[in-house]
Amino acid sequence: MTSEDLIQAWVGCDKCQSAKAVYLVRLINGELYFCGHHLNEHKEALDKVAYEIVDLDHKEETPIIEKEEING
Ligand SMILES: [Zn+2]
Repeated sequence: MTSEDLIQAWVGCDKCQSAKAVYLVRLINGELYFCGHHLNEHKEALDKVAYEIVDLDHKEETPIIEKEEING
């Protein structure tokens, strides 16, 4: 499934289930889905472990994590 497919489908937040996930967080060993509220709540921790955070609602916008930071 691609990110484009996910935008079409309703995917619930992994934390609260009741909210639509608007962020796909790619980790080394898996993926997590978060609503905006829970992404913000866990962002500090996620910044350390996630290698990509995809904004499913605004995919045109600049990703939260720049690739340079990951390589550096
Ligand atoms: Zn949530």
